[in-house]
Amino acid sequence: MLDNGPAPSAWQQRAQWLQNELHRHAHAYYVLDQPTVPDAEYDRLFSELQALEAAHPELCSSTSPTQRVGGAPLPQFEQVQHSVPMLSLNNAFADEEVIAFDKRLGEGLKDNFKDSPEESQPVTYAVELKFDGLAINLRYEHGVLVQAATRGDGASGENVTANIRTVRAIPLRLHTDHPPAVLDVRGEVLMYKADFMRLNARQRDAGLKEFANPRNAAAGSLRQLDSRITAHRALRFFCYGIGMLEGAPLPPSHSALLDWYAALGLPVCPVRAVVQGAAGLLDFYRQTGASRASLPYDIDGVVYKVNDVAQQQKLGYVSRAPRFAIAHKFPAEEALTTVLDIEVQVGRTGAITPVARLAPVAVGGVTVTNATLHNEDEVRRKDVRLGDTVIVRRAGDVIPEVVAPVLERRPPTATEFIMPTRCPVCDSPIVRPEEESIARCSGGWLKCAAQRKGGLMHFVSRRAMDVEGLGDQLIEQLVDKNLISTPADLYKLGFTTLAQLDRMADKSAINVLAALEKSRATTLPRLIYGLGIRHVGEATAKELARHFGKLDALMTASEEDLLSVADVGPVVAQSILQFFQDPLNIELIEQLLAGGVHWSEVTLSSTPQPFKGKTFVLTGTLPNLSREEAGAQIEAMGGKVAGSVSKKTSYVVAGEEAGSKLTKAQELGIAILDEAGLLHLLDNV
Ligand code: NAD
Repeated sequence: MLDNGPAPSAWQQRAQWLQNELHRHAHAYYVLDQPTVPDAEYDRLFSELQALEAAHPELCSSTSPTQRVGGAPLPQFEQVQHSVPMLSLNNAFADEEVIAFDKRLGEGLKDNFKDSPEESQPVTYAVELKFDGLAINLRYEHGVLVQAATRGDGASGENVTANIRTVRAIPLRLHTDHPPAVLDVRGEVLMYKADFMRLNARQRDAGLKEFANPRNAAAGSLRQLDSRITAHRALRFFCYGIGMLEGAPLPPSHSALLDWYAALGLPVCPVRAVVQGAAGLLDFYRQTGASRASLPYDIDGVVYKVNDVAQQQKLGYVSRAPRFAIAHKFPAEEALTTVLDIEVQVGRTGAITPVARLAPVAVGGVTVTNATLHNEDEVRRKDVRLGDTVIVRRAGDVIPEVVAPVLERRPPTATEFIMPTRCPVCDSPIVRPEEESIARCSGGWLKCAAQRKGGLMHFVSRRAMDVEGLGDQLIEQLVDKNLISTPADLYKLGFTTLAQLDRMADKSAINVLAALEKSRATTLPRLIYGLGIRHVGEATAKELARHFGKLDALMTASEEDLLSVADVGPVVAQSILQFFQDPLNIELIEQLLAGGVHWSEVTLSSTPQPFKGKTFVLTGTLPNLSREEAGAQIEAMGGKVAGSVSKKTSYVVAGEEAGSKLTKAQELGIAILDEAGLLHLLDNV
């Protein structure tokens, strides 16, 4: 056809190319559960096609990805025709789009509600999380689960009833004596992050393919032909919508629908609210964004829905999505970029870490130029090569990492990483004991400036000696100019030496000296931690101080003594023994003492420990105590402070703006204290 007709214009070609690409990616994502590119890349192409079709409507056919929902159902499954189509959601990325959405709806409702006093009121929305899983329709007839189907292409999906029956969160029978004749519950099946990590670890151990992310793992687990496999995958479910309903009145609002669901025994996410106008929407977006990383499951945004069902019906639908709802997406946590180089970094214990130098790319709201590759085996396992296009991930405050290369974009010039045999900093041989995954520079502190710098940075860090104002750049300079080599040298520094360094003035030199002076009076756990003994983290340092009370006792402890400390196993014990067998370390401690470092002796072993065995989790802002102060008080009584809530948590201490940890504690029925409650407990144990 095209042979005889006019040559397609550049935009026609572009639209065709975009459609093909999007179809290909959508097939890999929805049908095969094996995405080839990050969602952000798909969204970018999708937006470009949408814009092109808006400018040239003749390009837009009913088969365009912009007009369709999801992907075709897999032929291996029986197909289910949805009684009410399962649609997608329109997306907003910027605040302005949300403001425009609210304005558009306000105007739409004004016309429709001419006689109503509501016309001048701001629109009321039900707001909830946008779960990153896959949509499911659960059909209950007379209260009994009779069928479950995936969204598929929106009109028909796959019958996954047998698999859904294995999901414990989904009731097989609704908790009511008067169930509706027919109820289509809609919601998202997903996998918690921790369960995903466990699943991937199992896959790895069994030599099977790992899943790219929890969404993918959830989709792959649900679309199994053998339900016994699904039964072993920890799937969860949250409801958020309704299809067909017969034999019961439709609740008048979305929030009432969710309340009804909860009363029927269906899982409803507790993180939800009813808000007014664009300001309410954006507030919810920001609050959720701040707690996103600490949620136990992945979300890729929040969803805003007009709360009033009559208003929803007035607003209606466009081809693939409702008009009354929108998903407000968070900045993507994954992006595509290229590996410019793979270099190695030397850590304070000499550990050699390969780091990918990347073409700058925005991910998780920041520009990323480096990503860790952890170790040599990881580079091989992921098969990341110089010149590769890779998927980079940065979630929350976690350091960016390379997820995988995009093999179809690998250039023929891509080269494999070769682990250097000598340290790039001190030229000592790099060694890797057979049973370990980490290669190390054999130079040690004395020879290797990178290890010296790392050790010093650790020594002065906030949780160790806490020397304020002595930052990484200053340590770099001091080591590079051979002004210091061990932590003890820090206490010999004088004003003139400090003041003459780059970016230092008299005032900052005085401040650093004052901070060093202050750090001389420290605590035994801080000092033990600051020494940087391998495998001795902050918690172990505290346990050691508590157990031995005095540094001398720790220094002369036998392996047996060490093994009697909670948290200390054979590897840690060996590492401590080795540390104190090294005369250089003994000399360092003597010099620190000579330099005026001192601490009050810990007699914790004789201190009453009423909180022993109890685990606390602190969340939100307490009115008076900082988290560290509260934590210190708990630990002084023998309690442990943990970062996440589990069944083993004894108490959650919640302050203002406590987020998901509080919710989880409520879900698990864990005792919740406010600051006053904590203080009362501390005073009365
Ligand atoms: P969507 O995921 O953007 O939004 C609609 C879906 O959101 C619903 O079907 C439902 O499953 C889900 N959802 C979660 N929480 C919800 C809530 N509270 N209320 C209502 N719905 C909720 O749209 P989509 O059509 O499923 O797919 C588009 C998404 O899939 C995009 O993020 C896109 O990047 C991704 N995708 C990626 C690729 C790829 O190759 N990486 C390919 C295709 C699609």
